Amino acid sequence: MNDRTAVSHAFIAPQKIMWMAWDRYQRTGRNDTIKVDFYSGMPTMFSVKKYSDVLEKLRVQRGVGGLFQHNLLSVDSANRKATFKKADDSAVSVDYTILHVTPQMGPPDVIKKSPLADKAGWVSVDSATLRHTNPEYHNVWAVGDCSSLPTSKTAAAITAQAPVLSENLFSVLDTGKVSGAKYDGYTSCPLLTGYDQLLLAEFKYGLEPKETFAQYLGDQATPKKFYYHLKKDLFPWAYWNFMLDGNWYGSNAWTRPTFPSTA
Ligand SMILES: Cc1cc2nc3c(=O)[nH]c(=O)nc-3n(C[C@H](O)[C@H](O)[C@H](O)COP(=O)(O)OP(=O)(O)OC[C@H]3O[C@@H](n4cnc5c(N)ncnc54)[C@H](O)[C@@H]3O)c2cc1C
Repeated sequence: MNDRTAVSHAFIAPQKIMWMAWDRYQRTGRNDTIKVDFYSGMPTMFSVKKYSDVLEKLRVQRGVGGLFQHNLLSVDSANRKATFKKADDSAVSVDYTILHVTPQMGPPDVIKKSPLADKAGWVSVDSATLRHTNPEYHNVWAVGDCSSLPTSKTAAAITAQAPVLSENLFSVLDTGKVSGAKYDGYTSCPLLTGYDQLLLAEFKYGLEPKETFAQYLGDQATPKKFYYHLKKDLFPWAYWNFMLDGNWYGSNAWTRPTFPSTA
């Protein structure tokens, strides 16, 4: 900490609000009086190296402190102190003026304490078919945040999971067997880096980029105004008008993906 006002942020989702706050401080001429620090339990800025490298460069360029493998233990709001546990298990207390926190997330007890859960507490489903891994519960399927699917939990991921689930579910009802529909781990993190710029991370299992627009617009790791407007204007419209009705297929937009009929 230096003598500038300290503003601390923790974990990945708040990167968006952190960058927007940072941008706002610049635009309102307060960048010299506010010091922004990013505290994260993660070892890097992002799980996918390609995007992480860009965000790390941005962080350094913008003078934002990077404190990785720092897990928030407690907050003493009366004295404005946040205490983090570091990778070596030692604790560090940090003074702050504004603290923006995303608490650690986990499965709800209703699932965690049920026989449907895996060791981590999520509904244990096959990562490709989305059907429960235990044959005893083969009538159970899962998409979204409650599932054990080893990818980033996003609404965008659900748009790719839902057609696979419904295809397999109806195939089982009709033929007794799952179809050839397989989820590839697709997920997307539209990461705001300022008021008019967004890095559009899209990737699949193996943390391998799977970008929709790169072939037309160039690398999606470069924050762009176009992606900002996709997130700000198109996605909310698509969510309310199409996704809730099951008519939005993420990177496929309105076109329902087709799958082989047999596994
Ligand atoms: C800060 C933040 C930013 C995000 N930004 C993005 C983004 O830009 N793009 C993106 O694609 N995704 C984003 N996400 C992720 C996205 O919001 C989630 O992945 C998505 O909402 C998961 O949907 P879901 O239906 O699986 O779970 P949820 O939305 O969590 O829905 C579960 C529902 O179950 C209900 N429930 C819980 N327990 C019970 C019970 N016992 N009985 C009955 N109901 C119960 C809950 O109240 C809730 O309504 C973001 C998430 C966060 C936190």
